Amino acid sequence: MDDKCVFCKIIKSEIPSHKVYEDGNTFAFLEIKPSAPGHLMVVHKRHGESVIDYSKKELGEIMTTVRKTSISLEKVLSCDSITIGINHLEKKGIRHLHIHLIPRWANDGGGIMQTIVNNPPKEKIGDLAQKIRKELM
Ligand SMILES: [Zn+2]
Repeated sequence: MDDKCVFCKIIKSEIPSHKVYEDGNTFAFLEIKPSAPGHLMVVHKRHGESVIDYSKKELGEIMTTVRKTSISLEKVLSCDSITIGINHLEKKGIRHLHIHLIPRWANDGGGIMQTIVNNPPKEKIGDLAQKIRKELM
């Protein structure tokens, strides 16, 4: 827990939220400024700022809750799809890793995930792939 983190305070019920799910390790609640009906966020109860801060087990716990809540969103809202996104190492928002689940419908005015940024690489894709593969070894 981080005493200054808004999401840690939400998890501890020090700040009210519209909780939709909670288990021993994860917490899911509706976004206070939703991009769409049912826009919710899933967090791990242990404070961490990025995917690097969590173990494989903890990441699995988060994704299990993402799976569970996405199934509920589909049933409750009859949405066409769900955009699921993580702002890894986010500097502008709340620095407690959170996964957005944004229900989508045909003609809802939103774009696909790839439309968030328009910053195509200046180097050849193959060269970039080689650099990333080398770093992963
Ligand atoms: Zn936190």
